[in-house]
Amino acid sequence: MLKPFIDERSALTCVHCGLCLASCPTYLETGDENLSPRGRIYLMRQLLSGRAPLNDATVQPLDTCLGCLGCQTVCPGRVHYGELIEHTRDFIEHNHRRSLYQMLLRRVLVEQVFPYPWRTKLALSPLKLIRWLGLEGWLPRFTRPMTSLVPPGFRSEPLPLTSPAVVTEKKGRIGFIEGCVQSVMFGPTNSAVVRLLARAGFDVVTPPGQGCCGALFSHSGQLEKARDCARRNIAVFERFAVDHIVIGGSGCGATLKEYGLLLKDDPAWAARARVFAGKVRDMVEILSPRSFNLNAGSGPLVTYHDACHLNHAQGIRQQPRDLLKAVCGSRFVELPESDLCCGSAGSYNLTQPDMASRLQKRKVENILKTGATVVVTTNPGCMLQIRAGLIAAGRADIEVAHLADYLDRLGAGRS
Ligand code: SF4
Ligand code: SF4
Repeated sequence: MLKPFIDERSALTCVHCGLCLASCPTYLETGDENLSPRGRIYLMRQLLSGRAPLNDATVQPLDTCLGCLGCQTVCPGRVHYGELIEHTRDFIEHNHRRSLYQMLLRRVLVEQVFPYPWRTKLALSPLKLIRWLGLEGWLPRFTRPMTSLVPPGFRSEPLPLTSPAVVTEKKGRIGFIEGCVQSVMFGPTNSAVVRLLARAGFDVVTPPGQGCCGALFSHSGQLEKARDCARRNIAVFERFAVDHIVIGGSGCGATLKEYGLLLKDDPAWAARARVFAGKVRDMVEILSPRSFNLNAGSGPLVTYHDACHLNHAQGIRQQPRDLLKAVCGSRFVELPESDLCCGSAGSYNLTQPDMASRLQKRKVENILKTGATVVVTTNPGCMLQIRAGLIAAGRADIEVAHLADYLDRLGAGRS
């Protein structure tokens, strides 16, 4: 008898109305019902009841799901698709045998390297050397989808334990999470977030001992490992009295806000997880556009890509636009299909490179339609994916910037 891996009542709330089809990137790209939200939910129920076997053919439609939650945003029945797919993935990873290549990618790179900053640094050091020697073009073709994602000149920037508010009227104390991949590849972005928060009137504490938020594990079907990450971060941040907990990556922020759900069945941690999750905010929920006193009339044309885990998972759409418009004014232009996933989706662009590449091209085509020379977003994964797509399209001149870097560079919030 199969142990239920999802709550069947939750899956049954899908009435197959199809209103989510137009929001599903994989359905839009293929027109294949099996690669749609309702097709996947149907398949989950088939697996749950044992009417469908667990094999490569049934795992493939679930593997190609980006976990972007575009379907969840528009579903009138409030189907909690995110929870369904995460639990299904946990079931798949513990019961299905993958190819050696996929095993190495998932079990080694995604789970044993990326969540640990020093291992990521070590793994990337040969690439740094190869680039320094000008030999990147000699790398085997199959490595290029991966190496093209690594930004040139990436670096970490150690943060002090406390970064004091730089205004006299203090608003509170924020605990800052550096993120694992973010701290290695986007150190200057972390520093920019901290500067913006300090200018907004917050003392910012960056506690030592914190670790990966768990997103890499929960998205790859390793929920128990994600719970371990959550317990570790909760214990670390309980030692510091903070009003809010902030991180510079939307994907991580969405996972941190779900700690209450992740640990709901653990009596020793459930209440502590709810307290922690209740304090998590994205940077854009803290910063006020009113405090930015900039000349909005000049500068390049700027567009904005909605990171799925800010837009769909956290329901935050307007605040980043308000912040951008405060500094860009009429130079802000909306991006067609801004809310459609760019194909990054955590480690999706490594495990599902074909679909990731199709969505990357679609995103780039939409960016080119705007005429913007700067694309702003809030998630490091999207930045890597979009930047690599623009370079491949011969448009390396279009800048891809994190919102924090863009605001900080313009001096936003400085008195
Ligand atoms: S997931 Fe929601 S929107 Fe999509 S088919 Fe099911 S009920 Fe309809
Ligand atoms: S999470 Fe995204 S890719 Fe997956 S079914 Fe929903 S809309 Fe489609």
